[in-house]
Amino acid sequence: MTAGEFDSWGRIDRRARPAVSPDAYENLRDNAAPGAFLPFGNGRSYGDSCHNDQGRLIDSRMRTRILGFDPGTGIVSCDAGVTLRSILEQAIPHRFFLPVTPGTAAVTVAGAVANDVHGKNHHARGTFGKHVRRLMLLRSTGELLACSATENRDLFYATIGGMGLTGLILSVDLQLMKVPSAHIQQHAIRFDSLNDYFGMVETVDSEHEYSVAWIDQLATGKRAGRGVLLAGDHADASCEFPDMPRSMKLSVPFSPPFDLLNTVTLKAFNEFYFRKEKRGETVTTVKWPGYFHPLDAIGHWNRLYGPRGLYQHQSVYPADNARELTARLLETARKAGHASFLTVLKKFGEQASGGLLSFPRPGFTLTLDFANQGEQTLKLLNVLDAMVIEAGGAINAYKDARMSPQTFDSSFPQWRKLEELRDPAMVSNFWKRTALALPK
Ligand SMILES: Cc1cc2nc3c(=O)[nH]c(=O)nc-3n(C[C@H](O)[C@H](O)[C@H](O)COP(=O)(O)OP(=O)(O)OC[C@H]3O[C@@H](n4cnc5c(N)ncnc54)[C@H](O)[C@@H]3O)c2cc1C
Repeated sequence: MTAGEFDSWGRIDRRARPAVSPDAYENLRDNAAPGAFLPFGNGRSYGDSCHNDQGRLIDSRMRTRILGFDPGTGIVSCDAGVTLRSILEQAIPHRFFLPVTPGTAAVTVAGAVANDVHGKNHHARGTFGKHVRRLMLLRSTGELLACSATENRDLFYATIGGMGLTGLILSVDLQLMKVPSAHIQQHAIRFDSLNDYFGMVETVDSEHEYSVAWIDQLATGKRAGRGVLLAGDHADASCEFPDMPRSMKLSVPFSPPFDLLNTVTLKAFNEFYFRKEKRGETVTTVKWPGYFHPLDAIGHWNRLYGPRGLYQHQSVYPADNARELTARLLETARKAGHASFLTVLKKFGEQASGGLLSFPRPGFTLTLDFANQGEQTLKLLNVLDAMVIEAGGAINAYKDARMSPQTFDSSFPQWRKLEELRDPAMVSNFWKRTALALPK
């Protein structure tokens, strides 16, 4: 396999990676050596949790059938490699929508389960795994197990958020949600400081299905922490946009030899993005792809970070002192000379999915994207980790490419239970450098 085919989204460690189809895996698994495989979805994880350089990847994208959709109940059954975009295309004409949608529709359903992904409505609907009714899991022993809240329960909850380590998911039954329209009535609320954001977020979340804030990480002084809170609800049935708007897809054709998203360009972009919203609150109806997956309109936008790729740092921390910690995290990155293109702040709700290693937990989650500037960036990320862990928070594993075993242990103290249920044939680079580097 050539470099690029199995990259993860951060593009930090690019190399040719051997892979097999799920069909081939079914024949090979009998003699599988420990750690010989890892399922791969569509590489939208940022780091090394979807790679296994001691073995072969199992390419889920080779099975992409929608096996059934019941417009009465809204339950869709599909192969592991079906993308969320395909599910939306099937469901929207019947006025159903994904109950949880991450920031890109290019992920596979198995990838969404294995990382128990979250969306802009975590406060209302929890994570993706909460809506999975059943999944079929193939273990390397040859057992094909139906897993649900009532069948093989431990494996079900270990597989949700289990990062591909419990076996190969073959298919998923997912409960969709009924909506009047797929499009969104959006409330864009501009705020001048983190105090303003923290002062309104609880009320906004209680009033709207979706809510997420973009922050100008480079603003300083009185403007520090300014941003735009984008809340939304499904528009009513009279919305006049066609269900499937035509997509205008641009693409970044190759990686420029340097990072285009640097402090200078991002300062200008942030100023524009902030000023494009009027003061106060603006209500408009927007098409669903633009609201949920704006970056999907630009293919390979990750190439803009240049040949060395990017690191994403997503943390979650308790609500007490969140305002102060958010301000310190932003300032620490700024003072280290790092500009974050996508700086996103969201309040997670209380609902747990039950996933053993799920990332979301009550509190605030801050996401920062940094171009890889080598040692300087790694140093900054370690400092950010330490601040979050000290506050009782956690760092997201599927966005990570470098956290220490200790940071992982503090973030996911229950990891040993997943290790007990791990399929011995499966391992990832991430698991080797974190969990397996810790005492049992
Ligand atoms: C632009 C962008 C926006 C994003 N926004 C969000 C967001 O809002 N919220 C969020 O939570 N995440 C977000 N993400 C991250 C992304 O949703 C997750 O990393 C997702 O899990 C990637 O799925 P994938 O299909 O690409 O799988 P991969 O990244 O290839 O793999 C993910 C995991 O799934 C496992 N896996 C894949 N197939 C199978 C299978 N058949 N059986 C068992 N395990 C399997 C892999 O081993 C791996 O551990 C975003 C990513 C991008 C690039």
